[in-house]
Amino acid sequence: MKAAVLREARKPLQIEEVPDPTPGPAELVVKVESCGVCGSDLHVSDLPGALPAGTVMGHEFSGVVVEVGKEAAGRFQVGERVCALPFIGCGRCVACLAGDPSQCPTLQTTGLGQVPGAYAEYVRVGQHEALRLPESVGHRQGAMVEPLAVGLHAVEKARLAPGARVLVIGGGPIGLTVSLWSRYFGARAVVMSEMAAGRRELAGRFGATDAIDPTREEVGPAFAKRAGGAPDVIFECVGVKGLLQQCMNLAPNRGRVVVVGVCVEPDTILPAIGVVKELDLRFVVAYHKRDFELTLALLDQGRISSDAMVSDVVSLAQLPAAFEALKHPTIQCKVILEP
Ligand SMILES: [Zn+2]
Ligand SMILES: [Zn+2]
Repeated sequence: MKAAVLREARKPLQIEEVPDPTPGPAELVVKVESCGVCGSDLHVSDLPGALPAGTVMGHEFSGVVVEVGKEAAGRFQVGERVCALPFIGCGRCVACLAGDPSQCPTLQTTGLGQVPGAYAEYVRVGQHEALRLPESVGHRQGAMVEPLAVGLHAVEKARLAPGARVLVIGGGPIGLTVSLWSRYFGARAVVMSEMAAGRRELAGRFGATDAIDPTREEVGPAFAKRAGGAPDVIFECVGVKGLLQQCMNLAPNRGRVVVVGVCVEPDTILPAIGVVKELDLRFVVAYHKRDFELTLALLDQGRISSDAMVSDVVSLAQLPAAFEALKHPTIQCKVILEP
């Protein structure tokens, strides 16, 4: 099959012929119909040594089952439309049985150097991590379930009280899904702070009640003016140096800061600010299987939508150039590969 392969950090992906995946006993092979390009792929492909040479990335995908492993027969059939968590767990440990495979001790991740990802014609997934798409949910929506689940998990961990005032820092795909779920779970105000005008406009379609341009206004007073008070919860959805301290400075006493952005360099904070304000600082990653299930159910019922996030659709041949373009400031939001 053809796949977009990372040969070297900071170099464009290469379209290569690679071996077709074969399913293990508890695995399926899925023909990729849609796969989102994730900001974390852009990040990690630029860090020398972060991924082994030959990695096929792509962890936000949906497609059609084309092969079913021995143990998975009866649970899944060829032709079924699925998406999957981008992990393959053992299926037997406490974490796997609880639908929390990211905590499996023998976890293999998909698209980050272990299991080859979905920037390819086919991808191998675990039967326990795969979920059927309801009939009304298309493949493009299926590929968006993963980023929606990231936002859902972050908002669950934030334990929003009904009527909370929420500040979302960063309007990329994750900031947008965090904003969508904050609204869904009853926030009174969801204010997004984002430098790019295009993303601020998009925020309104993802539940934000207002948006701030942090280059033109001071975020604290601007938030209070729009939300009628200080933020109960601040979601950091960018992951750059210095931002965590800024969030701590913005938070009121006993406020909560939820860190969703992934900063990959050392950063300093002044712990005394956190102590004096008695801040609740949480770090979150990934999701449970139930986050995928709830997302699919609500997409099926038409109660949430992420369609507005898709800005471009590219073929496998177009992916390397599109991937490079996304590394520079861009108006695109979510680029979808349809091999
Ligand atoms: Zn992602
Ligand atoms: Zn396990």
